[in-house]
Amino acid sequence: MSEVRHPGNTRYVSQVILKVASRCNLNCSYCYVYNMADSTWKMRPALMSNEVFETALARISQQCRATGQDRFRIAFHGGEPCLIGPETFDAWCGRARAVLGEIVKLSLVMQTNGTLLDSRWIASLLKHQVSIGISMDGPKEVHDAVRVDHLEQGSYERVERGLRLLQEAEVPYGVGCVIPLGTDPLTVHRHFLRLGCTQITYLMPHFTHDTIAPVRQRFGATPCADFLIPIFDAWWFEGSMDVQIDDLKNVARVIMGGRSRSEAIGNDPPGYVFIEPDGEMEGLDNLRSCCDGLSRIKLNVRNSDFFDLLTTETMHSQAIFEGMPLAQTCRSCPEGETCRGGYLPHRYSKDRGFDNPSVWCADLLKLFAHLRSRMGVSIEETKERRRVLAAKCVPDLDAVGTQVF
Ligand code: SF4
Repeated sequence: MSEVRHPGNTRYVSQVILKVASRCNLNCSYCYVYNMADSTWKMRPALMSNEVFETALARISQQCRATGQDRFRIAFHGGEPCLIGPETFDAWCGRARAVLGEIVKLSLVMQTNGTLLDSRWIASLLKHQVSIGISMDGPKEVHDAVRVDHLEQGSYERVERGLRLLQEAEVPYGVGCVIPLGTDPLTVHRHFLRLGCTQITYLMPHFTHDTIAPVRQRFGATPCADFLIPIFDAWWFEGSMDVQIDDLKNVARVIMGGRSRSEAIGNDPPGYVFIEPDGEMEGLDNLRSCCDGLSRIKLNVRNSDFFDLLTTETMHSQAIFEGMPLAQTCRSCPEGETCRGGYLPHRYSKDRGFDNPSVWCADLLKLFAHLRSRMGVSIEETKERRRVLAAKCVPDLDAVGTQVF
């Protein structure tokens, strides 16, 4: 019997991200699923079958009963998850609550481009208490430059309409914005505030050491930091804590000695696994931005349980349950214990694999330095806080592994 089967052992999956659709009604130019290095989506069925969904539920139930864990999260993801239609979604959420509701505290979330939301979707989201991550990249001219459909038409109005529906119905939602390099940060940020968004995540775009050179040439040495710092300052000096900027909060959290709630900062093990429409389990799916097939584990829920992830010979077991070791360069970095090397896809190069600092290393250092100066917390003080918190053994139950957006 594997060690993971004993209750109390933390090496278990805390979240499953169900890729219920492997196709999308949009075709965003930077999408790591369709328009980067990976082509595995072509071999998947367009939609997850009921049989795969039920098998995934049974695997989750099996694991939760064996480990005694008391909470679990299911995220509906894609492609575009709304392509399964509101009736299937409604039925699957009902099944998930029925099968898992008495075993664990279950949270349901969905990551969507928002364009297909309508009153039937809203009714189902409310009925099953599903929270939403919605992708939007800023004002119309910024968003429509990249988030287009298959006819190359911008999607801004459709996303805004979906967002309004969520707001009117008071469905909990957060907005994810891939940092539009070279645009005015405050124009983008104030646009979200004008729309009434109160939870925003700015995501560093996916590049590897093999693809970053033209970006630096065009946008300079630290374009992500140059985007985020004015937003942080506006939040710090003009804003209120009613608006959450998740990525900046995570930087502040690790500076204060706590744990990040996103694997993009801090490199804590995410504890989640993706399940493709055909039942194949995958590791961090953003690794598709690095090279073809890198996210594949080649285990399928039809014939493997989550415990089998522990013994898979790919890198994914380590990435999911332990976190990847720091790159050589990061081991001597003054922010090594706070940054933890950056987001895994951003560390990749064909020559050295993941033994690199993040392509956004200079941005991260600049961002850490700026927040430290505003917060008045030195690297030494962070170390001391971390030591004190560790000695108190304060568990951060909402740390990495419970949030995908
Ligand atoms: S700031 Fe750069 S060198 Fe330091 S840990 Fe992060 S990625 Fe590594």
